[in-house]
Amino acid sequence: MLILVVLPGNSLGTEEEFLAGTDTFVEGVDILATHAGETSIDADHRVSIKAVKKPAMLTPGMVVFGRVDEIFEPIALLRVVGIEQNGVRPVNNQFYCVLHVSRIKSGYAKNVRDEIKIGDIVKAVVDEIKNEEAHLSTKAPEFGVIKAFCSNCRHPLEKKERMLECPDCGSKENRKLAPGYRSV
Ligand SMILES: [Zn+2]
Repeated sequence: MLILVVLPGNSLGTEEEFLAGTDTFVEGVDILATHAGETSIDADHRVSIKAVKKPAMLTPGMVVFGRVDEIFEPIALLRVVGIEQNGVRPVNNQFYCVLHVSRIKSGYAKNVRDEIKIGDIVKAVVDEIKNEEAHLSTKAPEFGVIKAFCSNCRHPLEKKERMLECPDCGSKENRKLAPGYRSV
């Protein structure tokens, strides 16, 4: 089993497969993550988490651009690729922010997957710093998906009125869109 990115409480495997390492705990026979982060397995089969540390530069109110790396309902993990600071500044060191389904849009959203999908680029605001993690919001009209890819064929989707359409296979998809879709 290979999980790249996990959230607190996600299972990393069992004690029959691995030894519990840094930032993990054991419940029954399952080894679980205490932090969001990336898993690593060393030569002794010790599974550890490289914890996601909140970058010091992130503060509530900052606008970030993130790629959706993983979705574990009701949460998406976004890898930050840029920060709006006198224009858009690219970010090279890898860190993740959390987007909970309740912070995606102002109306009710049942599932993260109904509003955003893995691979999408999302413009969001840092809503809150909690437990060393940055929680994002895309509720305001200016935030949401700015680039999305077809679920069937991965071709970039084009905006047609309020829906997205794949110019390659014709698939129609829904997202919580930002007004600047594909213009950034
Ligand atoms: Zn397609």
